[in-house]
Amino acid sequence: MTKHVMIIGGGIVGCMTAIELVNRGHRVTIVERNQIASQTSGESSWAGGGIIFPLLPWQYSDPVNALTRHGADFYREFTQKLLRETGLDADFAQSGFLLLPEFDTNAALAWCKKYGVEARPAKAADYSVQSPSGNYALWLPGVCQIRPPYLMQAMRKWLEQNNVTMLEHTQLVPLQETGELNEWQTTSGEKLSADQFVVTSGAWSFDLLKETSSKLNIKPMRGQILLYKPEQNLRQMVYREGFYMIPRLDGHLLAGSTLEDVGFDNGVTEAVREELRIKAEAIMPELKRQPIIKHWSGLRPGTPENLPTISAHPSIKNLYLNTGHFRYGLTMAPASAKLITALMAGETPQIDPAPYTCAS
Ligand SMILES: Cc1cc2nc3c(=O)[nH]c(=O)nc-3n(C[C@H](O)[C@H](O)[C@H](O)COP(=O)(O)OP(=O)(O)OC[C@H]3O[C@@H](n4cnc5c(N)ncnc54)[C@H](O)[C@@H]3O)c2cc1C
Repeated sequence: MTKHVMIIGGGIVGCMTAIELVNRGHRVTIVERNQIASQTSGESSWAGGGIIFPLLPWQYSDPVNALTRHGADFYREFTQKLLRETGLDADFAQSGFLLLPEFDTNAALAWCKKYGVEARPAKAADYSVQSPSGNYALWLPGVCQIRPPYLMQAMRKWLEQNNVTMLEHTQLVPLQETGELNEWQTTSGEKLSADQFVVTSGAWSFDLLKETSSKLNIKPMRGQILLYKPEQNLRQMVYREGFYMIPRLDGHLLAGSTLEDVGFDNGVTEAVREELRIKAEAIMPELKRQPIIKHWSGLRPGTPENLPTISAHPSIKNLYLNTGHFRYGLTMAPASAKLITALMAGETPQIDPAPYTCAS
C-alpha cells in the first residue's frame, strides 16, 4: 500500500532512505532546515572524505561491519545508475587503500580473510609515499571512494526527477511525547502530516527527540579536512595513525581529519590546520611547496562504538529512526536505508536489526 513518508534531514542517510522508499512505491517528502546537497545543509554528508570503507575495520564490532561491508559494491552500480539517469557523475573510483604503520598486522590480515577483502603486504616506498614509522605497509586494492558533494548533487537530481517533495529551509521543532504522530510542527508554526516519519537528522537527532527518546546517545563530533592540488598526486588513498589522504580524480587531494568534541561549532582552527599540514607533509614531502586551497569541517553524528540507531521509535507508533552513523555514514547509508525500510514495511530484514534498536 502506498504511504506518504516524511524524512527529517536531507543528508546522505535521509536521501538514501528516500530513494529506497521511492523504489518501494511510496510518496516521499524530505524536510531539510537548510538546502539539500549544498555545503551548509549536508553538515556532515557534504564534508565527508568519501572513503567507502572503515578506517581499521578490525577495530569495530560485527554489527558495524555488517553495515559497511557491501557499501563499495552498492556504490559501484548506484553511481553508474545516477550517471545514466541524471547525467551527474559522483566520481566513484577504486583507488585502493595503503595502510602505513603502526597497526596490528595480524588482526588486519585475519579480518580481511574473514570478510573476503583482498590484502597484500607491501612496501611504502613502492607507492611513492614516505612512511615515518617503517617501510612495511598493507595494500588493500579493492577499497573505493566517492566524492560526497557530487554524490549528493546527483542524488538530489534523481529525487527531483522521481517526484520527491523537498521542503527546504524548513526546520522541525523538538518532538513531544505522543502515542501516534499525526503532524509535526515547523519552527514557523506550520503543521506537516504524513503516514510515517523517519528521523535522519544526523548530529541534531538527539535534540529533536530528547523529550521522547532520552536514551538516544548521539552528539556532534567535528572533523576538519584540508584540500590541496599537488603537481604530482597520489595514486591511492593512504592511512597512517588516524590520518588519511584521498586523491581525487581531478587532481585534488584531501588530508584529514580530526575527531573533536566541541558541540555544534562547525568552524575551523589554525591549530588543526597546522596539525594536518604536518601529517600530510610527513607522508608527501612535496606538499611543503603546495598551498592549502581549502579547509572545512563537518559535524558527524557521534555514537558509542560507531553503532547507529536504525529502528522503530520505542513508544511512538509511526516514527522511525535512522541516525548516528558517526564516522561511516556514507559507507553505511545503503545498508542502513534497506534495513529501515524493511522494518517500516513489517518485513524480516536481511541484517539482524537487534543491535541497532532504540532503547526505550
Ligand atoms: C570530516 C569528515 C570526514 C568523513 N569521512 C567519511 C568517509 O570517508 N566515509 C564515510 O563513510 N563517512 C565519512 N564521514 C561521516 C559521514 O559524512 C557521516 O556519517 C554522514 O554524513 C552522516 O549523514 P547524515 O545524513 O546522518 O547526517 P547529515 O549529513 O549531518 O544530515 C543531517 C541533516 O539533517 C538536517 N536537520 C537537522 N535537524 C533538522 C530539523 N530539526 N529539521 C530539518 N532538518 C534538520 C541537517 O541540516 C542536515 O542536513 C565523514 C564525516 C566528516 C565530518
